[in-house]
Amino acid sequence: MADIVGLKNRGKTKADADERRSAAEEYTGVKLETISNYGFDPELASKNIENMIGTVQIPLGYAGPVRIEGEYAKGEFLIPLATTEGALVASISRGMSVINASGGVRSAVFADAMTRAPVFRVEGIEHSKKVMDWIEANMDLVDAEVSKTTSHGRLVDMEFFPDGRSLYMRLSFDTADAMGMNMATIASEAVCRLVEKETGAVMISVSGNMCSDKKPAAINMISGRGKTVVAEATIPSDIVKEKLHTTTSAIVETNYRKNLVGSSIAGTLGANAHAANMVAALYIATGQDPAQVVGGSMTITTCEDVDGDLYICVRMPTVEVGTVGGGTALPCQKEALQMIGCSGAGKAKKLSEIVASTVLAGELSTLAAQAAGQLGQAHKTLGR
Ligand code: NAP
Repeated sequence: MADIVGLKNRGKTKADADERRSAAEEYTGVKLETISNYGFDPELASKNIENMIGTVQIPLGYAGPVRIEGEYAKGEFLIPLATTEGALVASISRGMSVINASGGVRSAVFADAMTRAPVFRVEGIEHSKKVMDWIEANMDLVDAEVSKTTSHGRLVDMEFFPDGRSLYMRLSFDTADAMGMNMATIASEAVCRLVEKETGAVMISVSGNMCSDKKPAAINMISGRGKTVVAEATIPSDIVKEKLHTTTSAIVETNYRKNLVGSSIAGTLGANAHAANMVAALYIATGQDPAQVVGGSMTITTCEDVDGDLYICVRMPTVEVGTVGGGTALPCQKEALQMIGCSGAGKAKKLSEIVASTVLAGELSTLAAQAAGQLGQAHKTLGR
């Protein structure tokens, strides 16, 4: 039998992937015919995966086009979505067609910073104060450490959370067009080494979980992480009736009792119908880190009756996306980013507005389906 363990971490070429896959087939007794069938050079994924043996294909569809009048996203966009959930793409598309008929989505980015929060062990309160004072008095040295590690990243804010013999330092970075998690981590580690040398504080972890990455967290709901994006639309009452087969007041009531009160009773972070669905499908299609769907799930959806018309809005405090770095250069993901004009430098904020606009469309469609009592039927017809 092939040395399945010895083949780990060997190489990144197609031949290496083939050899590992053969070993995995032999080890598991399963022929990996479809997993072996992919159309790009594994070396392109050398920074994205270890022990590559093939790919998993996820169906890709499109929703829209959707019209967006944002700060950064302007025009019509055909949205690539990778999912295995039947009815999702149709539902988002329906939301987009209603939004287009109502003049489109309006969106804006209100904040943009990626965070890392190292934790130090200190001797107690007095030492915490000394460490904080030293850092605040030596920001030029701190900035110099950051700029040794990155040319695009910049430290823009710092908050301290002292707690007995632990000191948390939440660092916020402008990471330009990268989602920025590697960038922020590498820069934070360099800052910590300097702080250790100068103050005697001991870095216990570069991530003390107050970042907070890939965990639902109130700190991100309030202070934001990645991009804080808001998207809104106003749907005239006649369009609500004709296209969504319900009324403004029914949608507002559904949102109130379900998204606002129901979510409060359940204690969810975020109050929405299914924001994570849109975020996951768009993140997977465009090479974002799918674990950061957690951040996208903390969306708050609000609906109001404005003179009979439906005002609908999503506030997304934690849209952690990039258009360079991570998985964005992989061939399929790059093409998906190109579909929405978001590949490469200068596009990350535009992408975040497209994410929020897609979430808005999905929220509208699902809320309307529930208000009209149609959700189960749609899933029965399209998803089973
Ligand atoms: P990255 O691919 O590690 O870094 C981005 C790279 O792009 C940097 O080398 C940067 O150079 C360069 N770059 C070129 N043009 C740029 C531009 N216009 N804007 C910004 N950067 C530019 O990506 P990342 O976004 O920092 O990290 C994303 C990855 O981190 C994902 O794969 C994700 O899964 C992973 N991740 C890591 C952690 C962690 O703790 N390390 C946690 C969660 C996720 P300069 O830095 O020299 O400017």
